Amino acid sequence: MKKPGLATRVVHAGAGRTGANYTPTCVPIDNAVTYTYDDMHTLDAVLGGTREGYVYSRFGSPTVEALERASAELEGSEAALACSSGMAAIHLALSAAGLAPGSTILTAQDLYGGTLSLLIKVFAPQGVRVETIEATDLPAVSAALVRSKPCVLLVETISNPLLKVADVPALAELAHRAGALLVVDNTFATPYLYRPVQSGADYVIESATKYLGGHGDVLGGLIASSAERCQAARELQKLVGDNLGPNEAWLILRGIKTLVVRMRQQCQNAAQVALFLQSHPRVERVYHPALPEHPQHALCQRLFPPEQSGAVVSFEIRDAGREQVFRFMDALQLVLPATSLGDVYSLVLYPAHASHRALSENERQRLGIRPNLVRLSVGIEDVEDIIADLAQALQASA
Ligand SMILES: *Cc1c(COP(=O)(O)O)cnc(C)c1O
Repeated sequence: MKKPGLATRVVHAGAGRTGANYTPTCVPIDNAVTYTYDDMHTLDAVLGGTREGYVYSRFGSPTVEALERASAELEGSEAALACSSGMAAIHLALSAAGLAPGSTILTAQDLYGGTLSLLIKVFAPQGVRVETIEATDLPAVSAALVRSKPCVLLVETISNPLLKVADVPALAELAHRAGALLVVDNTFATPYLYRPVQSGADYVIESATKYLGGHGDVLGGLIASSAERCQAARELQKLVGDNLGPNEAWLILRGIKTLVVRMRQQCQNAAQVALFLQSHPRVERVYHPALPEHPQHALCQRLFPPEQSGAVVSFEIRDAGREQVFRFMDALQLVLPATSLGDVYSLVLYPAHASHRALSENERQRLGIRPNLVRLSVGIEDVEDIIADLAQALQASA
């Protein structure tokens, strides 16, 4: 064969096996969309599923699968599936769980705003009945399961922003007795605090954008479940195409390596911040499961590791309206007002205009999201600095 032309050579330069006998100590980023084999029969076998391998990255790709193995390891599940965002993971898991025209989903009324909007704006118009319930009221959940015969019960392990803790083992039993699948959004807890699959949850969802990524630089979602359920979700993903990219998978894998040390520190900082806020005269009320007066304090102690209650703290500023809360948030110098959580740095958010903006004032009031409520995601900074910043901002905005 004649020497290929420059255009041919530049597109092939550097590619192919190096024949090296070394192994990289971290997962390499494999950005290839397509994979080729020594002969057509091998490619045919891979395409037909009788031989392992990769063909096209929407069907599977090595860096993304490395993340999926790490996620399954973390969650204690048989398998996991990575998606382009937490919302994509929720959408895919609910679709795979059988939400279809004529079916019903029973969900906790305390739910991430995006999830509630997904149910109301996407699933409901397709003929799915959406029913909400106070998920900490087990007799009410039990009655609703019997009455409405939902195919899915959806709850968050720790709810946003009031930090209610779900009794996942009891909910799994109630759901299964009623013939429903339990889907748990474990984003606020992370598998460090809790592994819902091991308590009977059928699908667990994580927005990896939050604690798993941990650095505010990557959007992603994960579904953990049985091998069979993950395979069904994967078949759906092959058609829907809400895949995670290899670069994002790599960033999340990197974040996961420090999940335990970050969460341990963040939970410890959050418990101290909660005590500080509780002692402050300008603070009317503090929501955090580490506090003995939290309604699910005992449950939290039963489900989570000792003295680890999550790293989000919500609180109400005494006699404050939106303007006073904004003044407090503007006065912060270290803590950043931004709409996420779970990052290494501390973040504050005003639920009434962010996560729960789409709701009416009445609806927010019914859910207990008052105009003086602030949600704080506590980072890994020195806790004295976080507390000093909160103290000066509370004083400056008084
Ligand atoms: C952020 C979040 C989501 C959505 O995740 P994205 O990665 O932003 O799509 C879902 N559930 C909870 C509890 C969240 O905090």
